[in-house]
Amino acid sequence: MSSVNLTALKASAEDLERRYAKFSDARLSLDMTRGKPCPEQLDLANGLLTVLGSDYRAADGTDCRNYGGLDGLPESKALFAAFMEASPKEVLLGDNSSLALMHDTVARALSHGVPGGDGPWSRSPVKFLCPVPGYDRHFAICEHFGVEMVNVDLYEDGPDMDRIEHLAASDPAVKGMWVVPKYANPSGATCSARVVERLAAMRTAAKDFRILWDNAYAHHHLTSSPPALASLLDACKAAGNADRVLTYGSTSKVSFAGAGIAVMAASEANVAWMRRHRSRSTIGPDKLNELRHVRFFRDMDGVRAHMEKHAAIIRPKFDRVSSILRRELGDTGLGTFTEPLGGYFVSLDTMDGCAKAVVQMAADIGVKLTEAGATFPYGRDPRDRNIRIAPTLPNLADIETAMQVVAVCVKRVSLKKLAG
Ligand code: PLP
Repeated sequence: MSSVNLTALKASAEDLERRYAKFSDARLSLDMTRGKPCPEQLDLANGLLTVLGSDYRAADGTDCRNYGGLDGLPESKALFAAFMEASPKEVLLGDNSSLALMHDTVARALSHGVPGGDGPWSRSPVKFLCPVPGYDRHFAICEHFGVEMVNVDLYEDGPDMDRIEHLAASDPAVKGMWVVPKYANPSGATCSARVVERLAAMRTAAKDFRILWDNAYAHHHLTSSPPALASLLDACKAAGNADRVLTYGSTSKVSFAGAGIAVMAASEANVAWMRRHRSRSTIGPDKLNELRHVRFFRDMDGVRAHMEKHAAIIRPKFDRVSSILRRELGDTGLGTFTEPLGGYFVSLDTMDGCAKAVVQMAADIGVKLTEAGATFPYGRDPRDRNIRIAPTLPNLADIETAMQVVAVCVKRVSLKKLAG
């Protein structure tokens, strides 16, 4: 962050008060909290609602209206294997939520253990490494099950690997870690090939260590030249640690966020493990929805063409956030922000100790932001500086207003802090 020009900031105090009062008088009611697709994005997939007509049979004749097919139809496994860059034997389809698959992975590891382990993880204390800032719902899963979370900094090329290697190698209680490897929520970081290699090869004190590789934004580019992400599954196989990683994805932000298809890709041993556990909780997933997705998208070319339409809708929203933050905060030294190449979020870092007050001040005049601290385990941002901005759902006019409010609040809070 560049150094703060306090004299200039003080000189703008009156203008800031005037702007804040004007926004306050406008009685705003804007919500920038969650990364949901906007209605125009959802409309892109409306063909799913009619694509089956009355033809509900899969290629092999399976009546998709009936029970069965625990880990997916062959044609949907083929499509989603390509989606995950794995082979069909390495994928298992869930219902509509990859988060549910991740939750179940942790729950089953705790209750029964994982392949290559010595039984249920819950027999002794369990820790997870958590790159921060990160996804609040990952942290909520850990908190829910009493898994202790250890913060690790997330850089532009992935998590702090020196610290990860040290913690994983030195503490057998460290059983796992979360990673959103591409366009991370909220920073937009993508793991470099070197990070992927080190994760695959590193020594772990726990022989049943697992990486939960949540590739939720694998196909969600905002640019025509997206950064490459190496396959951790392939790297783990090459390093002799094939069972180390479980990868997850979904079409929540490709088709319908409430009615997409979730998928897990992992070693055959891990897939068999998950299949066995799932056989106790379901007779089979929603095959009609699988069939709809295969008929609608056909193949990965279909998915890619569809995702370009998404990008055309949301890119202007990200651009608007960037242009306002650049104009308002650019060289003030009061905040830094990400300009992601894909995904769903912008990450804003204020000066230390300001984020909570900014979020509260914006809420006071009707602009709801994700709670400060939410991007850290236990809701505790040790520097109280990170704010997650979710620009996809609101329209451009609302984004314009909300981001100006954010900028004014950052400046007012910073001024109070510096002056006080
Ligand atoms: N993973 C990440 C990183 C997310 O940001 C989200 C949603 O915001 C999800 C998973 C949720 O995925 P799903 O809808 O497949 O449960």
